[in-house]
Amino acid sequence: MLTAVNVAIRGRVQGVGFRPFVYQLACQLQLSGTVQNNMDGVKIFLEGEEDLIQMFLTEVKEKAPRLAKIKEILVESTAVQHVQKFSIIPSERSGTSQLVIPIDSAVCEDCLEEMNDPNDFRYQYPFINCTQCGPRYTIIDELPYDRPYTSMKSFPMCDDCQQEYEDPTNRRHHAQPIACPTCGPKVQLLDGAGTIINSANPIQETINLLKAGKIVAIKGIGGYHLCCDAMNEAAVTALRKKKNRPVRPLAVMAASLTATSSFAIVSDKEAELLTSPEAPIVILKKHHNEQLAASVAPNMSTIGVMLPYAPLHHLLLTDSELSVLVMTSANPSGLPLVYQDNDAMNYLVGIADFYLSHNREILHPVDDSVVQVNAGKLDFLRRSRGYVPDPFPTNQDVTGIVAFGGQQKTTFTIGRNKQIFIGPHIGDLENIETINHYHKELTHLLRWIDTPKTSAVIDAHPGYQAQNLLTDYDFAEVIKVQHHHAHMAGCIAEHQIDGKTFGIILDGTGYGLDGHIWGFEILYGDAADFKRIAHLHYTPLPGSEKSIREPWRNAAAMLISYHGDEGADMASLVFPDKAQEIQVLTSMIEKRINTVYAGTCGRLFDAVSAICGVTKVANYDGQAAIELAELTDETQIYEPYSFDLLDNELITIDFSTMLKEIVSDVLARVSVTMISSRFHETVVQAIMSAMGMGLNKNSNLEKTVVLSGGSLHNRYLRKRLTEELKEKGFVVFAPESIPCNDGGLSYGQLAVAAAKRRK
Ligand SMILES: [Zn+2]
Ligand SMILES: [Zn+2]
Repeated sequence: MLTAVNVAIRGRVQGVGFRPFVYQLACQLQLSGTVQNNMDGVKIFLEGEEDLIQMFLTEVKEKAPRLAKIKEILVESTAVQHVQKFSIIPSERSGTSQLVIPIDSAVCEDCLEEMNDPNDFRYQYPFINCTQCGPRYTIIDELPYDRPYTSMKSFPMCDDCQQEYEDPTNRRHHAQPIACPTCGPKVQLLDGAGTIINSANPIQETINLLKAGKIVAIKGIGGYHLCCDAMNEAAVTALRKKKNRPVRPLAVMAASLTATSSFAIVSDKEAELLTSPEAPIVILKKHHNEQLAASVAPNMSTIGVMLPYAPLHHLLLTDSELSVLVMTSANPSGLPLVYQDNDAMNYLVGIADFYLSHNREILHPVDDSVVQVNAGKLDFLRRSRGYVPDPFPTNQDVTGIVAFGGQQKTTFTIGRNKQIFIGPHIGDLENIETINHYHKELTHLLRWIDTPKTSAVIDAHPGYQAQNLLTDYDFAEVIKVQHHHAHMAGCIAEHQIDGKTFGIILDGTGYGLDGHIWGFEILYGDAADFKRIAHLHYTPLPGSEKSIREPWRNAAAMLISYHGDEGADMASLVFPDKAQEIQVLTSMIEKRINTVYAGTCGRLFDAVSAICGVTKVANYDGQAAIELAELTDETQIYEPYSFDLLDNELITIDFSTMLKEIVSDVLARVSVTMISSRFHETVVQAIMSAMGMGLNKNSNLEKTVVLSGGSLHNRYLRKRLTEELKEKGFVVFAPESIPCNDGGLSYGQLAVAAAKRRK
């Protein structure tokens, strides 16, 4: 029977060859109608036999172009119009502000095949690309996305490239970064002093240098990496020493999935992520007896792995004696990623022995993205290259809302129409370079997205940089959002949860409405508003920042504040070399000198890690908690320690007895794995009891819960909480497309502002 439907497809469907694909598919199935781009996706009108329309709807998902990412297909029947043919019609929108900004994508199979074909004119050409792969966001200066507005403008096309570019049947039709050895960018090898090394084959030369244990700074898609042979302990140690990065795990790039399997366990889902066009770093479980240099990821049971994504990476990983490279962002400690050639020479002097550079300029730096599979779902640790600036669809107009994020791992988020754009990973706003970098990227993305500046959204913390940053822009209003409410609202928005929900937010530190540091919260509410149901008992952080950098201080302070003199004695037993400092801490706490009060999950983990002797002084943010988690047995459930719940106006979770039990286990030399596993289970059980008490105290609460906050990267916590909550009849959500850490904060802030606007 002849039927007609309107189909709306949302997701990444613009600027990826989606309309020509729909056109071909409709013609193959002998369907008539139209396809066009509109404000937030692609709109299709289809007319034909009902079964053929069904076939279309299946195949549009299954056969979509490589870079397309369909998030939603809405179908509704409509009146038959007796259209004769299928056609692509002009977009249902106007003005520059609707332009799509494409993502940087890993090289595709077709291009790789050509690159490896000795008869192809792009044989071994490190900048091969097509409409379905190659750099985009990082090389675009102005919109619309067109070669003269990219850093390819300085490479006029040769006749061969021009012909492909103009041929509508060619897979490089309108591929803006199209290039070949004749007309395109070239690589160049330089020594540590920046002198060009003349070589017929700089890539082969680089392979030889890496095999000889040298450190090479390699210019990639989003910036420079520092690289060395991941099997060579001396090289990795040298890199750590020069970069002043003693223990933080380094990411590696493996030649292939097969090469990865030799040192890590790869599930199907992880393999899919590794080989996706976004090509993120995926956190994998190491094999017990893997052969990588020990200092690549010391004290870790996991390792961050990516596969080659630029054609240049593929060419570097062709030698069977060099199958895994350490590949770490080239930035001096705490500073933004190095991406300009001059900066590379300035900042990396004394670190890089050589530079493998090229003359295609990177205009906008973007760090590698980092993901893991957690409780069977995607869990973003950093959402950047390959994902930025893909918009998130929303059902509400969010035009003019700009959210400034937090202070650590920060990002910003911009709303336009019914789309939300999260900017690239910026980092910690702790030095002028990073603040300038934030400023530059925000200004740039605001210009691209071209939205009015109506509402600025910032964290409620009075000391965050966002307060200063926003004064450079002219916003009509400023909205302050509580840190953990932003985490909760982000998850509510991502999953489009209607009505009210619980929020279990386990986090590092965030400014609380009572002036204390929050971070172990059970909240209840929606994106617009919340009520605090339960939290962790506050303990002092003497010297605040110092207690965060040196978790043993925070541990001692917890013991002292919970148990007085007995606690000070316990602290002296587990930190015998700190007796004098423990006395100072005791009087700081008594007199409340330079001491803030905190109840956060991150600090609790830090303290237990220090008491167990795992990490007493942290070298990087979150180290103590991460290293403790690495020692946990995720395969079984251990008996929890004791804990108490105090029910005043708020439910307070009290771990004083647990800490005492842990101290005595440590002194009795119980294994850290046993202690850590029991501790993890205690946290889960305490939260479950508090949830039960919260439900009893308040009637008619929804049994929906969102899990978020940086501590929810912890695999044990996420898995066990999800299991327990589901068993108690809760519907459980966690962030899947945005980071649950502060990288996702700006998205949540925007969600709060949008919900308040709706109300
Ligand atoms: Zn390609
Ligand atoms: Zn060419």
